[in-house]
Amino acid sequence: MFKINTDYAMTISGDAVVTENRLPVFNPATKEVIAEVPNCTREQCESAISSARKAFASWSKADLSWRQAAVKALGQALEDRAEEFMALLTREQGKPRPGAEWEILGSAHWLKTIATQSLADEVVLDTEERRVVTRYTPVGVVGAIVPWNFPLLLAVWKIAPALVAGCTVVMKPSPYTPLCDLKFAELAADFLPPGVLNCVSGGDDLGRWITASPEVNKIAFTGSTETGRHVMRSAADTIKRLTLELGGNDPAIVLPDVDPKEIAPKLFWAAFQNNAQFCNAAKRLYIHESVYDDVRDALVNYIRTEVKVGDGSEPDTTLGPIQNSMQYEKVKEFFNDCRENGYRFACGGEIDDSAKGWFVPVTLVDNPPESSRIVQEEPFGPILPLLKWSDEGDVIERANDTIYGLAATVWGKDLDALQRIGTQIEAGTVWLNEVHQYSPEQAFGGHKQSGLGCENSLHGLAEYTNRQTITLNKIGG
Ligand code: NAD
Repeated sequence: MFKINTDYAMTISGDAVVTENRLPVFNPATKEVIAEVPNCTREQCESAISSARKAFASWSKADLSWRQAAVKALGQALEDRAEEFMALLTREQGKPRPGAEWEILGSAHWLKTIATQSLADEVVLDTEERRVVTRYTPVGVVGAIVPWNFPLLLAVWKIAPALVAGCTVVMKPSPYTPLCDLKFAELAADFLPPGVLNCVSGGDDLGRWITASPEVNKIAFTGSTETGRHVMRSAADTIKRLTLELGGNDPAIVLPDVDPKEIAPKLFWAAFQNNAQFCNAAKRLYIHESVYDDVRDALVNYIRTEVKVGDGSEPDTTLGPIQNSMQYEKVKEFFNDCRENGYRFACGGEIDDSAKGWFVPVTLVDNPPESSRIVQEEPFGPILPLLKWSDEGDVIERANDTIYGLAATVWGKDLDALQRIGTQIEAGTVWLNEVHQYSPEQAFGGHKQSGLGCENSLHGLAEYTNRQTITLNKIGG
């Protein structure tokens, strides 16, 4: 059992491992250093990988029911410690309580549910002469590399199926948000044999060592499309299996029959949940021209009356800060670009650099050109372009005119129109009149340059396996 404090260690072969050289971790709401974590050395990284390799020999052969029970127990232990993890998540990531609750209890739910999943052998043929069976065998050692926006949930989306499938794991949190992940691995050491789940903390180099290692069989990665390309190149040398969950530029299409006041809060949360530091944030809001002004004004009214940006640990905060200074600077560039090009802000627009934390005001950009940076790129912060549309074919084309294909939403009362438009969007998930509905049973993954493969569901579980076909000639031999 552990107490949450600033004494953070890596978990390698079930042991707590520290380093002389440590990395600072900040509270983004105050810019204060709240902890220091180990900066993994190359030898320690190799030791984590070889301990995972060693543990694979027995873990992969252990009874499925035993592995499932261990993952389920870990989920329960996380749920039992949820309060501590939620508080820690808010401190390191910045998200207010409801978001922290969703992520931590969600992680526990995912662990417990994925623990019920399995992939049965497929009997392809069974005659008097021949039997052909396809089995799902674990791929081996998995490198799980995660970003800073949902540090624990996106780690669990990899760890839970990997362990159930019979793989062992070396996980690497983002250097910006390693605390919950390190504590989670520490907690897991009570439920898993040594080496089955290792957690190492460090910078981007550590990620490169993991992706380049010939001892790692698969990389499960969530992060930016740019880093995803590096991961894919690095994996090529040893033909590693890959699951890539990358960036997005999700369109939201608003039909003419919406009630502007009723839809505004839903559109707000579609775009600004997790302070828009969300791969699946609605990042381009296409509003039919007949309701454009009313929807824009209802959104502005909702933001002015209902939304408070602040320290996530304060109970009345709706949106927290930007998670780190690198991202804060990146988001500022989008504000500057809009200002320099003379785009109109419907609300927000001014960043106060003297604020205590990395705070950015919720900002709506009023109908900028389709070619503008704010429409074409992923800001990953609370600045959203509102765009007008009039022709259905044209708005579908604009929605699809991107290298990304992660998700999309369509909003309106005409259910036929929702289906008609939704099925023409090139994206891994299309939500109609809802958003951010995920489930351990539902496949999630990007089309185009938003990713490769998927997470969750039996399809996601299968990504931690190789297919092995065994044929038997019953009358031969
Ligand atoms: P990032 O790509 O900068 O970093 C992600 C992780 O990769 C970090 O742990 C980082 O240390 C590591 N890393 C960096 N360079 C590496 C390299 N060359 N080799 C191996 N590992 C390396 O992403 P981020 O800024 O942490 O996260 C934001 C991005 O993630 C956004 O683009 C967002 O859309 C995307 N994202 C996607 C999903 C999804 O499911 N598709 C979910 C969340 C975030």
